[in-house]
Amino acid sequence: MSGKALALLRGGPLVNAILAKIRELAPKAVEAVGQAPIKIMDFCGTHEYTITHYGLRSLMPPEVELVAGPGCPVCVTPAFYVDTAIKLSLEGVRVYTYGDAYKLPGSGRPGGGIRSLEEARAAGGDVVVVYSILDAIRRASREGKDSVFLAVGFETTAPATAAPVVRGMLPSNLTIINVHRLTPPIMRYTFERHRENPIRGVIAPGHVSTIVGAKAWRFVVEDYGIPTVVAGFEPVDVLLAVMEILRQLSRGEPMLVNEYSRVVTWEGNRTAQKMIAECCDVVDAAWRGIGFVPESGLAFRDKYRIHDALLQYGIREPGPDEWSYDLPPGCRCAEVTLGMARPTDCPLFMKVCTPGTPYGPCMVSSEGTCAVWARFGGGGLAEEIARGIGLK
Ligand code: SF4
Repeated sequence: MSGKALALLRGGPLVNAILAKIRELAPKAVEAVGQAPIKIMDFCGTHEYTITHYGLRSLMPPEVELVAGPGCPVCVTPAFYVDTAIKLSLEGVRVYTYGDAYKLPGSGRPGGGIRSLEEARAAGGDVVVVYSILDAIRRASREGKDSVFLAVGFETTAPATAAPVVRGMLPSNLTIINVHRLTPPIMRYTFERHRENPIRGVIAPGHVSTIVGAKAWRFVVEDYGIPTVVAGFEPVDVLLAVMEILRQLSRGEPMLVNEYSRVVTWEGNRTAQKMIAECCDVVDAAWRGIGFVPESGLAFRDKYRIHDALLQYGIREPGPDEWSYDLPPGCRCAEVTLGMARPTDCPLFMKVCTPGTPYGPCMVSSEGTCAVWARFGGGGLAEEIARGIGLK
């Protein structure tokens, strides 16, 4: 994006005009739906970053509540997979991981209380942080050591895992712990959990939409009647999404709008979609603290199962009936992930659990809601500033 366009997107006059429109539309939307405040949910950790970092929550009128939804893949990675990677690393298998999963706590059961790959490495485990699976492939090919890659992420990172598998680029000594998860099924699950006090607007995830296309969110409007806007990550993008959702609500006309058309197309990245479909089947899958969600995960198709690390090392995944609640005692990460609690509702927030000493999974990744709120506040300081300049 050019500097001029960026300046326009971040400029005060535009922001003030959108905020004025939001304040005008909010009471009309409340009247139309008969619910206050109106809950608008984001489904991407980077949107939550934009909302919190720029204090957008504090600029909302009282009729509008911006709620963080499931937008952090690291946060929802079940402890079982972290434990498995820790165990393998301590047994001498090299574990390659993205940096944001390096500190992710597991259950603490394997290796006498070791809770993360970072701790496993300190205890002598073989753990290497990489930027991409291609780094892991290069190193595994060069060094010849038995290795696994911990593949975590939504639709955005799944093609990066699928492509080398389909193209036959994996050396025989490198297999994959495949923990990729899909966004539409967890959206459906989240809507059901909010049935009593429904979500009235969706800010659809910009990054995921680059892969799946804006069309992937049609079901939100058609099946649930919820206004949906695919939004970019500048503050103005998010404010425009809120304004558009309120406009639709006030008119009783739910629609799907692609505000992020400078990056996201209706069809998405077909090559990436084909790559995922060629590599993986869609399966029921576990989400941390939440349990099994139908058709929400990816598993290697039979012809690629040779690359499955669990199969390679004879590790059996727990089935739906065997899955246990896998958050540490007192951690409310599942409720935070589903937008049913705020980080500040957790008694451990910024006491036992901080970005430097994460206790629960939502405090680890830069996209985790607790980590974002810990860094920028959920609205406290920004709210005071907004009151000071007469916006609240
Ligand atoms: S503050 Fe920490 S312990 Fe509490 S919900 Fe968030 S991640 Fe879990």
